[in-house]
Amino acid sequence: MSSAGHAEIFAPPAPAEDDRIELIGLDRAELAAELARMGAPAFRARQLWHWIYHRGAVDFAAMTSLAKPFRAALAERYAITRPRAVLDRQSLDGTRKWLLGFADGQEAETVHIPEEDRGTLCVSSQIGCTLTCRFCHTGTQRLVRNLSAAEILGQVMLARDALGEWPSPPEGRLISNIVLMGMGEPLYNYDNVAKAIRIAMDGEGIAISKRRITLSTAGVAPMIRRAGEELGVNLAISLHAVTDELRDRIVPINRKYPIAELMAACRSYPGLSNARRITFEYVMLKGVNDSPADARALVKLIAGIPAKVNLIPFNPWPGAPFECSSEAAIAVFSDIVFDAGYASPVRTPRGRDIMAACGQLKSESVRLRKSQRMAAG
Ligand code: SAH
Repeated sequence: MSSAGHAEIFAPPAPAEDDRIELIGLDRAELAAELARMGAPAFRARQLWHWIYHRGAVDFAAMTSLAKPFRAALAERYAITRPRAVLDRQSLDGTRKWLLGFADGQEAETVHIPEEDRGTLCVSSQIGCTLTCRFCHTGTQRLVRNLSAAEILGQVMLARDALGEWPSPPEGRLISNIVLMGMGEPLYNYDNVAKAIRIAMDGEGIAISKRRITLSTAGVAPMIRRAGEELGVNLAISLHAVTDELRDRIVPINRKYPIAELMAACRSYPGLSNARRITFEYVMLKGVNDSPADARALVKLIAGIPAKVNLIPFNPWPGAPFECSSEAAIAVFSDIVFDAGYASPVRTPRGRDIMAACGQLKSESVRLRKSQRMAAG
């Protein structure tokens, strides 16, 4: 069967060893339905939600507002689990990266980037990625499957465990923002991503507002407006090139949804204003997309869209077919965009001492295990 390989690649994780039902990733209605099945009144679901998403409880025994026999009954039928931290690395600049292992042994990366006035958690939406953007390391990895809502949310839960951020603090949070800029294309896994985002936004739980969540896409044009209407989060577009000829080559999804279609989708994104701008990400590749003419074409392309342009120094990885633009070229590029009226910050590379290119940590763990297996026999 020609489709068997594909189906296998996208197979969901194997069920947990026991047959308890995982509560992480259920929305409020699903949680209430579970409790109704146990004969518990509706307000119990709200209490449980509070324990799971506001207090971060992983053990039913700790849920002291519930009667003891009820806690025991819950523990028999349900589980509250976190992904396993396979690697946990902290950079000298405070950036922290986890390689997380899921029930079926697949792995994905999560990164925490602390800044003075905020802290951003960069979350993955898939294991690997099908897009094969030429500059991105994740595209070189073979295995791909969608992450479930529980696995996407599990990244936030585990990071908050590690940073000691329970119960949800009202302000001054270490994780104040979430960006879907890790491995994978979030708009190719929309249902699970949307479900996880909605749970993370819930005011009686993790309570991170839509203004502090950014969904980044390489350009799944037909899904962009829907995401805006249903979730209302900030939008980032991985643009990286201003002609179809070049973008077809370095961001191959462009062959399906060319620049004109992508820009039309951006212009229709709901709620755009100067206070709510689209971020265009643009990775600086020496001699490829970094000329002053490229910069001028870029501002023409985004004319009229409330936007800012994030210039990202290319982060090299072994075997990458590009080099990063010179500082001077980036400065000239940034000035042209800025003079046209758009903020054009150059992203400061973070955590390079612990491997910054997304996907590198995972590749390293695969190499490590291979060499361990070889040493073992
Ligand atoms: N698929 C989505 C989400 C992944 S985030 C998307 O494409 O937007 C992808 C971002 O990672 C890109 O915009 C780019 O900013 C960054 N990126 C990937 N590889 C990089 C590299 N080698 N150097 C610098 N940035 C890179």
